[in-house]
Amino acid sequence: MPEKSDDRGSVTQAQSRRVGIDLAIAAALTFGSFIACATTDAFETFQEVSRDYEYLELDEALIALLSLGLGAIFFALRRLQDQRREMVSRIDAEARSARLAMHDDLTGLPNRRLFRDRLRTAIERVSRYDEMIAVMVLDIDRFKPVNDLHGHGAGDRLLVTISERFTRVLRKHDTLARVGGDEFTICQVALGSRSDAVSVAERLVKALEGPIEIDGKSLIVGVSIGVCLGNAEIRDPNELIRRASVALRKAKKRSGSGYYFYDQQLDVSLALRATLERELRGAIEAAEIVPHYQPIIDLASGKIICFEALARWHSATRGFVSPEDFIAVAEDSNQIMELSELMLRQACRDAKSWPEDILLSINISPLQFRDNRLDEEILAILDSEGFPPERLEVEVTENALVEDPDLADRILMSLKARGVRTSLDDFGTGHSSLVRLRDLAFDKIKIDRSFVSDLTGNSQNAAIVEAVLAMGNSLGLPTAAEGIEDDTHLETLREKGCVLGQGYHFSRPVPAADVGRLITEIPEKLRKAARDKAAGDETGGTKAEQSPPGAKPDKPQAA
Ligand code: C2E
Ligand code: MG
Ligand code: MG
Repeated sequence: MPEKSDDRGSVTQAQSRRVGIDLAIAAALTFGSFIACATTDAFETFQEVSRDYEYLELDEALIALLSLGLGAIFFALRRLQDQRREMVSRIDAEARSARLAMHDDLTGLPNRRLFRDRLRTAIERVSRYDEMIAVMVLDIDRFKPVNDLHGHGAGDRLLVTISERFTRVLRKHDTLARVGGDEFTICQVALGSRSDAVSVAERLVKALEGPIEIDGKSLIVGVSIGVCLGNAEIRDPNELIRRASVALRKAKKRSGSGYYFYDQQLDVSLALRATLERELRGAIEAAEIVPHYQPIIDLASGKIICFEALARWHSATRGFVSPEDFIAVAEDSNQIMELSELMLRQACRDAKSWPEDILLSINISPLQFRDNRLDEEILAILDSEGFPPERLEVEVTENALVEDPDLADRILMSLKARGVRTSLDDFGTGHSSLVRLRDLAFDKIKIDRSFVSDLTGNSQNAAIVEAVLAMGNSLGLPTAAEGIEDDTHLETLREKGCVLGQGYHFSRPVPAADVGRLITEIPEKLRKAARDKAAGDETGGTKAEQSPPGAKPDKPQAA
């Protein structure tokens, strides 16, 4: 908790007391020495001197001596006062630097060092009084965009407001510390039961609900919390913090604010993940991960306009590993750059043999947008593979645009300037404003397949798809629907004016060797389906059953 120190008051009192004592000693000394002078040999010597110099009157000499004594007292007083001032300011400075060493400058909260001290004390109490404590690690969601968009001043004021709100949730003996930019930790002591920690975690989440007004702007943030309960068994503060951090990672994976309690299973999954990370490293080095290709079709003509490269890993030990799983591991373990380079190089080599009017699209992870040389790196790979930038399309998700909007804009604009096309993937699942869509001038929007899968059964999905198509039309942006799985999807989307489509209905992603076959097969099948439909319509019969083209699936079909 932010603390107001009362050290200074007690220091000043102690000082005044000491000065009083010093003065009394000085006065007693002067008075004592005067008496002593008067009663000892010194006085007699003085009388003898006076006799020798009779022109000096004794009372004048005594007055001179007394003045000298008083002057000495005055001088002693001044010196004492100076010393007192100096000591007070030194104690103040020491208290200030001790406070700085233990507290966060911005919020006044304890820092990491003080937090560890308090946690150590709490752990001692736990074993002595058989109490329970909770360690919480908190991370503010969407804080970075606030800093980027509204400046560090607004970010600082937001952090102060957040720390005040958190402080209000806690009791006097709990400790709230700021341990990093937007990271806080809490040590909650003397817990009755787990539910005490649950209720505090819930109130902390609630404390940041709704917009927070800073400098006249409404800022929306949230908080993810990892919680670890401590009892007499765990005596190591670092272990408690580690466990709470592991739980935080889990909490952050869920969308929106929330909390997660540590359990042993999390460590088991961490160990499994570490093995997967190792195996993935080996697979990337051995180029075991290869691109498969899924076509994007012009719905009017049935022609393939593009193939999207999708990473496929058939592990010798694990079998088929879904990209959704290993891409996330590659992102967490900093292997995404190597994986992307492997994919792009191989895809360029494969795509060189396709007809020149068919584009190649590749997926770029939001994490790659942290690399401010991403554009140069992509262009260098194209150059070394001899692949024309005009035939490449990069697919980015809305999440890639929010973390560092300026950098993402610069990279996309730089790629566009060199002829690379850009496409907004999984549209509708993230946050992007119409202004940014317009300014970034994407060449394509891909409507996320979650809106397409239940197009006919869910009127809200249908409304969203219609709205995205209308928006694409008005911005002059071709819109592709992902996840077209059957004829009903296809017909409904065509009726709504969708011009491009992708999905299992046309083909699953296929190995490079099958691409040539799809290029001729798919338009033929779609033409045949259209003829059958027209014939069926003429004879008033039912819609022709349209079977997907015979592309070999790249992974086992779900039963
Ligand atoms: P995405 O880029 O949106 O790719 C489309 C995903 O939808 C692919 O899943 C594709 O197989 C699947 N899909 C296509 N049509 C249908 C359909 O009709 N029904 C259903 N249920 N699914 C369909 P996949 O290959 O598992 O990839 C998943 C995600 O992993 C991709 O989503 C992309 O975000 C990521 N990914 C795949 N390869 C790469 C890569 O090389 N680099 C990066 N950064 N991400 C990749
Ligand atoms: Mg994609
Ligand atoms: Mg997609």
